[in-house]
Amino acid sequence: MLQRLDSQVAACLKKAAEARERAGDAGDPEQRAYHLRMEGSWTRVAESMAAGDRRDAYIQDQDRHHTEMCLACDGALRMKWARRDREVEQHIYECVACGLERRVTLREESNGEASLVRE
Ligand SMILES: [Zn+2]
Repeated sequence: MLQRLDSQVAACLKKAAEARERAGDAGDPEQRAYHLRMEGSWTRVAESMAAGDRRDAYIQDQDRHHTEMCLACDGALRMKWARRDREVEQHIYECVACGLERRVTLREESNGEASLVRE
């Protein structure tokens, strides 16, 4: 059990590291900011898991699926376009497998967490 949790925490930390890498590679400031926020988000999930707060980790995981999985085929999504207007962020993702586009609107709450508004 503990070992399984450890591997989940490690997986989140790996995601955080990947996001940090992508931020470093991003030429576009909007995309860089997005990846840095993803890094923070993954780091928080890892911390929540390590602290045993499964509820928080679960919610974060749901949010992740909202923005990273294709609804039609479960394929991986890649970001095509992102725009930020004050606390509201709009993303357009494209499925690498079937090409379906997803438009997602996120709102940054006062605690720094991003919540899904609509898609
Ligand atoms: Zn798809």
